[in-house]
Amino acid sequence: MSKRKYIFVTGGVMSGVGKGIASSSIGTILKARGLKVTALKIDPYINVDAGTMNPTEHGEVFVLNDGDETDQDMGNYERFMDVDLSRMNYMTTGRVYQTVIEKERNLEYKGKNVEVVPDIPLEVISRIERAADLAEADVAIVEIGGTIGEYQNIIFLEAARMMKTKLADDVIIIMLSYLPMPSKIGEMKTKPTQYASRTLNGVGLQADIIIARSELPLDQKRKDKIALFCNIKPENVISAPDVESIYDVPVNFERDNLGVIISKKLGLKNHIKTNLDSWKKFVSSSRNTKGEIKIAIVGKYFDSGDFVLGDVYISVIEAIKYSAYKEGRKAIIEYVNSKDVESGKYKVGDLAKYDGILVPGGFGKTGVAGKLEVIRFAREKKIPYLGICYGMQLMVIEYARNVLGWKDANTFEIDPASKHLVIDIMPDQKEKLKKANYGASMRLGGYPCQLNPGTIAFDAYADSQSPSYKLEAKSHKLINERHRHRYEVNPKYINELIKAGLVFSGVSPDGALMEIAELNTKDHPFFLGTQFHPEFLARPLNPHPLFTAFIISTLKK
Ligand code: GLN
Repeated sequence: MSKRKYIFVTGGVMSGVGKGIASSSIGTILKARGLKVTALKIDPYINVDAGTMNPTEHGEVFVLNDGDETDQDMGNYERFMDVDLSRMNYMTTGRVYQTVIEKERNLEYKGKNVEVVPDIPLEVISRIERAADLAEADVAIVEIGGTIGEYQNIIFLEAARMMKTKLADDVIIIMLSYLPMPSKIGEMKTKPTQYASRTLNGVGLQADIIIARSELPLDQKRKDKIALFCNIKPENVISAPDVESIYDVPVNFERDNLGVIISKKLGLKNHIKTNLDSWKKFVSSSRNTKGEIKIAIVGKYFDSGDFVLGDVYISVIEAIKYSAYKEGRKAIIEYVNSKDVESGKYKVGDLAKYDGILVPGGFGKTGVAGKLEVIRFAREKKIPYLGICYGMQLMVIEYARNVLGWKDANTFEIDPASKHLVIDIMPDQKEKLKKANYGASMRLGGYPCQLNPGTIAFDAYADSQSPSYKLEAKSHKLINERHRHRYEVNPKYINELIKAGLVFSGVSPDGALMEIAELNTKDHPFFLGTQFHPEFLARPLNPHPLFTAFIISTLKK
């Protein structure tokens, strides 16, 4: 490999048209050319990370192996490119300023006057370079959040300009634009893209490639028009119509030659040839399913104004899909709001129509009573159940209340005064909360977990290629999964829970923390909860073993 290459992906016209998926797909098609690729996301907000943000507002918090709480696009990168990323791959305005200010306090600028320009973009550049170094990447893709022309991301565009000036042909700029098709006009309009291109020129950047998102494929006339007014060749305008599935995007990009164009522009002459076979195989498996399974996700972060969104649970949703495809099924996923179960608006008995029920992670009191009702229903009616994080903690509470008869069993999070705190606060967390230290202070990221043979969990991992033990000793007994929680199963009650029939099939290597709880298959076809978040390690080409075991159990229902 010669020199390292950089691709900046910026958004024109409007947000929400798939910059993250476009960046991920660029990663996929470059990886298919034998290149080592990494991807970075720059979020323009002041929050240092995504950890403290309200899920309904921000969407999912994606946790990296090193514990960084990031944007859901990082999940897309990891899934599309099948890589593990680090906190150096994620930055926000807050994070960059925080570092610069800390450096200034530590006299690292040696008495110099520290200024927004150039010191902030220089810090951005140094992070991009360090992330590329860490990944030993041939190509680093840098997605700049927000839209061209807004105030917030201008400093990041300045970083791109400085890098382009310094590294010239080793840097390219891709603008993802949008061509609206007003129904009354009946044709795609290029003008907003022209304005976006000029605004980009105004900050000293020229797009090398424009990816034109639209409802329909772009015709030659519009490619020519964009080319003429945005100073690029028509062949460098890529048509990116709406697609049925996000996983079609890499294949579509290749259809318009994007991989070849990028390789040529960056001087990657030995990487013109591509092999997207395994990706295409996955896409075709998603198309050729032989039946459906119905899964209910019972959560509470669905409401967005008058709309119902599954965004907060995106990794869970994708993880279900991958395992379902692997088993030749299409997963029909429906959202049930636990607040509606609580209020009686949703009758818990209606859940009988699902092949499987999943309670994902969550926080706080609202909707908990509804979730507990759902878990009891799944247990008693023997409907396959997968509980993740809060979904596992509540599973333990439900068991304690209804099997052990401890009616007041609870979690410290809801009722610290309860007599049976089967879920308690982790000792180090108490101090953090006392000091109102909420940011990046949970138990976060990858931790090892020891599996006990003869359990559902052990068998699930035993014959899979899960990335969960890529990092560890490749032992099927020791896995590594990502966490995000403050509370844990209270060691005080473990023996009694075990005596009552709950099986702890995964524990931390020192035996202190319960990582996986399940019921014996004699008692229930699949009733399993994990303190960690398996969804963060589910990949299209490598579905997660626990999700796969869950899906398989729904087929037997
Ligand atoms: N609220 C619980 C805790 O902090 C569960 C967190 C989660 O589901 N991610 O322990």
